[in-house]
Amino acid sequence: MGKLAIIILSFASLIVTLAYGQEANKVPEATEIWNAEPIKVTPGANNSAPSDAVILDASMWQSVDGGANPWQIENGVMTVNPGTKDIHTIKSFGNVQLHIEWRIPMLDDKFKDQDRGNSGVFLQQFYEVQILDSYTNKTYNNGQAGSLYKQYIPLVNATKPAMQWQSYDIIYTAPLFGKNDSVISPARMTILHNGVLIQNNVALLGPTEYIGSPHYKKHGDLPIFLQDHNHKVSYRNIWVREL
Ligand code: MG
Repeated sequence: MGKLAIIILSFASLIVTLAYGQEANKVPEATEIWNAEPIKVTPGANNSAPSDAVILDASMWQSVDGGANPWQIENGVMTVNPGTKDIHTIKSFGNVQLHIEWRIPMLDDKFKDQDRGNSGVFLQQFYEVQILDSYTNKTYNNGQAGSLYKQYIPLVNATKPAMQWQSYDIIYTAPLFGKNDSVISPARMTILHNGVLIQNNVALLGPTEYIGSPHYKKHGDLPIFLQDHNHKVSYRNIWVREL
């Protein structure tokens, strides 16, 4: 080791010693942070929107063809109008906290597996949180309610029966991309289903795929989509906080 290196190292260790010495003498106030005060938010009562949320009522959604919201709208409830295709928010989003309530209709026993109360919430258009009647209905586990479709099975099944309102609270972190579709960090999701943790900060493998394995493609902010899968699934009390 050269003399210069020794001098530099000695100087560095002196700084560390001084800093540590100071640390030992610190008073409680020394570790208190008084700047960067969090913005005050008024929480909503009974899962209603906090004061800083964007409320996604029926007027905030449009048809995938660009027209007005084609789903059935009544008393603050939006219901899939089968055959009118998905709807999506007019606004685009990146990282969000999303609250959404949904209800599976009463269905005949002949509807089974994926053909029973199927819909879905797609964050940034591509990443589906499955909605399905999973109270007693069997399907592949990575396709049941609360799954990140064909990627992550929910930790538990917190589903309520058809006709009861259920909720998802979703914390979504958008993927970050570099050049040529390279992924700097994948999309992540944490989900509470009816207040129960079912997905814990999982890293998505790419966009939701029905067939084959997912592959990321670079994108920026995008709308939230709700899926028309031919069943009259209803939605209400949808709000989002941009993070
Ligand atoms: Mg679906």
